[in-house]
Amino acid sequence: MLQLKNISKSYTTGTFTQTALDNISLSFRKNEFVAILGPSGSGKTTCLNLVGGLDQYDSGDLIINGASTKSFKDSDWDAYRNNSVGFIFQSYNLISHLSITDNVEMGMTLSGVSAQAKHQKAVEVLEKVGLKDHMHKKPGQLSGGQMQRVAIARALANDPDIILADEPTGALDTATSAQIMDLIKEIAKDKLVIMVTHNPELAEAYADRVVQFKDGKVISDSNPAVEVQTE
Ligand code: ADP
Ligand code: ADP
Repeated sequence: MLQLKNISKSYTTGTFTQTALDNISLSFRKNEFVAILGPSGSGKTTCLNLVGGLDQYDSGDLIINGASTKSFKDSDWDAYRNNSVGFIFQSYNLISHLSITDNVEMGMTLSGVSAQAKHQKAVEVLEKVGLKDHMHKKPGQLSGGQMQRVAIARALANDPDIILADEPTGALDTATSAQIMDLIKEIAKDKLVIMVTHNPELAEAYADRVVQFKDGKVISDSNPAVEVQTE
């Protein structure tokens, strides 16, 4: 459902150019749980950001559900980010002065949804992540694991097909990490989940497929998807 074809991306700071992704080709299937592993600076976050439409590739193509994104306009990227993708970060990125229910509702970017429907959906996803009893609390009243559950609920609020998670357990202890991974594994039953991690044990224990990055290249893939030719 997602295909990177010969994608390259570099960042220029002053006169220095750093290659982040070097001619990467990678396909992702519907409903698979993929872990992207690799050392710091190997291009993992850049890959996730490109796949999520948070950053633009320099060359190559990103194919989404069979369609090239080469001619995507800003409005197409907005629609893709808002309707198809949910993001989870290491640092939760919650708004501290809002209740967790309001935080989840902030994730609902679909237009034409009534306030009541938004609230109902927030309650539903908070229940799914096990936080229904904490709905009225603010992030500061929750543990790290609970805050990550709020962020996961927010990512689920628009019913995306794709969940992108960047070091989702990076700030959590081992026991809490396992609980969050169980939840993400559950979510991956009917979504494509791509998770960036430094942690090989977590990747092996939970993901269906482990892709290793090094120096902006894919150096191994435990279960490569067959590339679908679209042109
Ligand atoms: P991680 O290693 O956890 O993936 P990094 O610390 O490499 O994350 O990067 C964190 C953020 O800083 C990312 O959003 C990335 O785009 C940005 N970043 C990384 N390296 C640089 C850099 N050399 N200059 C500017 N921004 C950077
Ligand atoms: P990883 O997630 O594996 O740590 P990144 O994708 O964050 O790797 O970074 C890949 C390379 O690109 C690194 O050398 C990093 O410093 C560089 N980089 C990432 N984001 C930026 C940025 N915004 N500006 C400049 N360099 C960046």
